[in-house]
Amino acid sequence: MGGFKRRATDRAEQGRPAVTLGRLADEGVDVFCWCNRCGHNAVLSIAKLIGQLGVALAVPEVGAHLRCTGCSGKDVATRPAWPSRGPITRHTKARGP
Ligand SMILES: [Zn+2]
Repeated sequence: MGGFKRRATDRAEQGRPAVTLGRLADEGVDVFCWCNRCGHNAVLSIAKLIGQLGVALAVPEVGAHLRCTGCSGKDVATRPAWPSRGPITRHTKARGP
């Protein structure tokens, strides 16, 4: 055992290094972002993000560089927009009063 013969793909959920923009570009995956304040969300083109932020930035850090176009808030979260398997199950968020 030992060594990194194989590339750990989706095995280690915990402790795996954050995916960078460059990595997503390799995979052809865009970045999904949403605003924690108003719920606005969008998928941003990976090419465009790399043009602005570079390939080395970790995806979770992208949000720190973004501003919500809905409310101008800076509480923006980001994650890779991995292709969904099959039809999307829409999670209707129950909104509190
Ligand atoms: Zn917002």
